[in-house]
Amino acid sequence: MLKKLLFSSLLLTSLSGISQEQAPPQVDLRIYDIIEAVSADSIEADIRRLAGFGTRNTFSDTISDTRGIGAARRFIKADFDKISKNCGNCLDVFYQKDFVTKEGNDRVPKDAWVVNVVAVQKGKKYPNRYVIMSGDIDSRASNTMDFTTDAPGANDNASGMAGTMEAARVLSKYEFDSSIIYLGLSGEEQGLFGGKGFAEMAKEKGWEIIGVLNNDMIGNIKGVDGVIDNRTFRIFSEPVPPTETERERMMRRFYGGEVDGISRQLARYVHETTETYMPEMNPMMVYRLDRFGRGGHHRPFNDLGFPGIRIMEAHENYTQQHQDIRTEDGIEYGDVVEHVNFDYAKKLTAVNAISMASLAWAPPAPKKVSIGGIVEASAKLRWEKSDDENVAGYKIYWRDTTAPQWQYSRYVGNVDNFTLEGIVIDNYFFGVAAVGKNGNESVVVFPSETFRD
Ligand SMILES: [Zn+2]
Repeated sequence: MLKKLLFSSLLLTSLSGISQEQAPPQVDLRIYDIIEAVSADSIEADIRRLAGFGTRNTFSDTISDTRGIGAARRFIKADFDKISKNCGNCLDVFYQKDFVTKEGNDRVPKDAWVVNVVAVQKGKKYPNRYVIMSGDIDSRASNTMDFTTDAPGANDNASGMAGTMEAARVLSKYEFDSSIIYLGLSGEEQGLFGGKGFAEMAKEKGWEIIGVLNNDMIGNIKGVDGVIDNRTFRIFSEPVPPTETERERMMRRFYGGEVDGISRQLARYVHETTETYMPEMNPMMVYRLDRFGRGGHHRPFNDLGFPGIRIMEAHENYTQQHQDIRTEDGIEYGDVVEHVNFDYAKKLTAVNAISMASLAWAPPAPKKVSIGGIVEASAKLRWEKSDDENVAGYKIYWRDTTAPQWQYSRYVGNVDNFTLEGIVIDNYFFGVAAVGKNGNESVVVFPSETFRD
């Protein structure tokens, strides 16, 4: 009986191709556990501790245990060390630093070390592939050169830092195929120094960075315009990397891809993961590097050609950013703890945690994705198959040329090419993702080559 069943199923498989294969699950149930595990109380406690150091200006006191950036970074390192102890030393925790000088930097008040705090959770299968979540350690007063006045920076950016620490607490309970880094950066307010130093180190070490999720202000729900919204958040991403070659630029002119760079695909991934697992949230894609004329710590990674995005609140309150604490004309200025919404910071932390878990559990994105089908009725895609045994197969995505998100997809099994019958190449943009047997998908890869035959 068993033999007969086996035989007939084999026959069916060979006759009808992928239709008899096991399709990977649509969701990974562990992702729901991760959302549940993120704690608003724990985020609140860390924001209060960080804001309690008075100022965390990069050039503030480094000796005191109660005030200044030194106390803040030692607190963060001790917290990462504690998390690591609770997971059998699963984190590699260390300081990474670069020296900045007053000379040549008009927002640097004195020579100092810019010190980042790093916690690396090594991947079991791909230790050299990294997903990074970052927040900032430092804060600033009205005058960025002023490193003594109180600057609690509760939202900017103790919220992003606390979220990063909480993600470490939650995700360290799991093992992943790829590595995850929980990163506290310094020197943000004076010129993105911490991110620059860290990105350069990553480049030198030849790290393969899947993506940087930079969190900068994830705790404010009441905008300066009075709008209150605890569901919407923004995902900023640049269209194409600044490091692209002249050939890539020329390719784009004829084949498209103006809004399909690696950071944009990462942004779409976070958007899609949120819609799948946290449908109560309202992710808002913003098609630009950062807020108009302003900066954040994903940029130094982008500068070196790494994919990176900024995740942040939808409604900012400018009277509570970069302001000395004071009351003027009845307006309370200052970035104090009282304005932070911890439940919202928890939701945005969960968005990060599930995106990182999904990426770190997914197989590597397909390589050498190419597209053909010029003057033909059907679009064709080819890619290089991975030898990762977690790969269930591949999924082709496509969308109208004017659509912001991938609209259509088809799981095509464990093959290295596919023809989308009746889908005309001219009218859509296409991409390919690898799908794991656990249901987690890689970032979508936009074709970088074309073929004719
Ligand atoms: Zn700031």
